[in-house]
Amino acid sequence: MSTKQKTLAVHAGTRLTGSRAVPISPPVSVSAVSWFDSSDDLDGALDGKDFAYARISAPNTLLLEEAVAALEGAEACVAYASGMAALRSLFEAQGFKPGDRLVMPADGYGVTRALYKNLCAALGVELHALKLADAGMDARIRELKPRLVLAESITNPLLRVADLRLLAKSCRDVGAAFAVDATFPSPTGQRALELGADYAVQSTSKWLNGHSDALGGTVSGSRARIDVLRSARILTGDVLGAFEAWLTLRGLRTLPVRMKAHVEHAAHVARRLAESPLLERVIYPGLSSHPDHAVAREVLHDGGPMVSFEIRGAARPEALRFLEALQVCKPAPSLGDVGTLVMHAASASARRMTPEEREAAGIRESLIRVSVGLEDPDDVVEDLLQAVARGVGR
Ligand code: PLP
Repeated sequence: MSTKQKTLAVHAGTRLTGSRAVPISPPVSVSAVSWFDSSDDLDGALDGKDFAYARISAPNTLLLEEAVAALEGAEACVAYASGMAALRSLFEAQGFKPGDRLVMPADGYGVTRALYKNLCAALGVELHALKLADAGMDARIRELKPRLVLAESITNPLLRVADLRLLAKSCRDVGAAFAVDATFPSPTGQRALELGADYAVQSTSKWLNGHSDALGGTVSGSRARIDVLRSARILTGDVLGAFEAWLTLRGLRTLPVRMKAHVEHAAHVARRLAESPLLERVIYPGLSSHPDHAVAREVLHDGGPMVSFEIRGAARPEALRFLEALQVCKPAPSLGDVGTLVMHAASASARRMTPEEREAAGIRESLIRVSVGLEDPDDVVEDLLQAVARGVGR
């Protein structure tokens, strides 16, 4: 098959069994259990060679995993019930011992921070939360010699972009595993494994699904690493449901064409917002004013589908009034939908961080994150600006 993402998105993960009939749309296989005439066949199925029990292996999940692996350029992929389940399983697969170290973003997704904080505390693992896009972080990793480094391709919600190639090299030098949560750009905006990551994580609830109708998460990487995760998933039962896998695969078929439009619209929205005197600053990796613009041009295929901005003079009441004044865009705590979703970072994605952690990360009350949708981008800009004006009482 072609290695081009547009072709892979449409055709990877289509053919399930040796049957000569290949349905254009795979059936939703709802049976959790299968029976076999032959005990040998059942025996093999219990080892994952066929479908015996949906906690071990299930048809729709397997097709989705094949398609995501193809888009990530990975040997293998394993799917979970959510992005958080994927991140938890990734942590648990590292075999942490008391005194080991973990490095993760100080300015990344607040729920991941809260989860890893709990997991580290329970095991006596030292957590080092760093701004991984800042200079000198590769040297810091060499000093710390962690067991695992987790980065976010574009951090949530400040949209910082680290040079993954440098971080990957320092991880290799000290024998650390390097995982990248590449949810924000999706595999069309960045293939983290090609930049040296050992694991590429997606919350498929976002761009891969694309329509906000199923949670899910994936981890992709080498067959050896993914086999470890797959075996653990049989024990933990963190599996994706058949219908969720089916919906996600259906959404994934249009990922490259959707992302092209999302990214074009985001660039347009960012450029126009940057002209508004009502905004303190507009954050978009594709703008030359972005602190990591030069790195972003190297490690991302485009400027990304997300735009953040700070409303001049806004505290929480103004920011919340802004959300309620939106008419076209939806105030919703997620991203990756066909429609524009707008979020107040401090009270949503960073909600589970302490005020001190938010302050250190630079997440202010005036910060708004926008997942730019497929509406006419001028309608999106005009809606955002009229809502900002109403939010701050202009
Ligand atoms: N990673 C990032 C960057 C996210 O933004 C999110 C959710 O917002 C997650 C992981 C968690 O994914 P899920 O909601 O599918 O558990």
